[in-house]
Amino acid sequence: MTDSRAEPTLFERIAAREIPARIVAETERVIAFHDIAPKAPVHVVVTPKAGDYRDVVELAGGDPGLLAELVAVAHGVADELADGQFRLVFNTGAAAGQTVFHVHAHVLAGNSSAGGLE
Ligand code: ADP
Repeated sequence: MTDSRAEPTLFERIAAREIPARIVAETERVIAFHDIAPKAPVHVVVTPKAGDYRDVVELAGGDPGLLAELVAVAHGVADELADGQFRLVFNTGAAAGQTVFHVHAHVLAGNSSAGGLE
């Protein structure tokens, strides 16, 4: 599914190295980098390099293989930076706190309430 955005998204620009980020993992289609405003000791954003999907519901419907790849990259990041145990958060919709409409997962780890759900 292709979006008709006029401008590349923030995360497309990070994937293209137009905006600097602390990249921690990368595959052909997925990139992971430290969040600029971490909400936990480990807080990494994992996202497709292309901005075709706005949120995880669109991604799951349109390219479930890419969603599985994203989850695998998140697991690898958690193995490397934490103890392999992590929260995976997809804010979906503005009312749920999503601000960047290019699907991405937050990998949160490093303490028992990483990212604060309790
Ligand atoms: P929220 O901003 O409420 O967390 P999102 O789920 O859309 O909403 O997450 C966007 C995330 O992208 C935020 O955690 C934000 O800190 C992060 N972010 C924004 N700009 C950058 C950047 N240049 N480099 C790394 N992370 C960024």
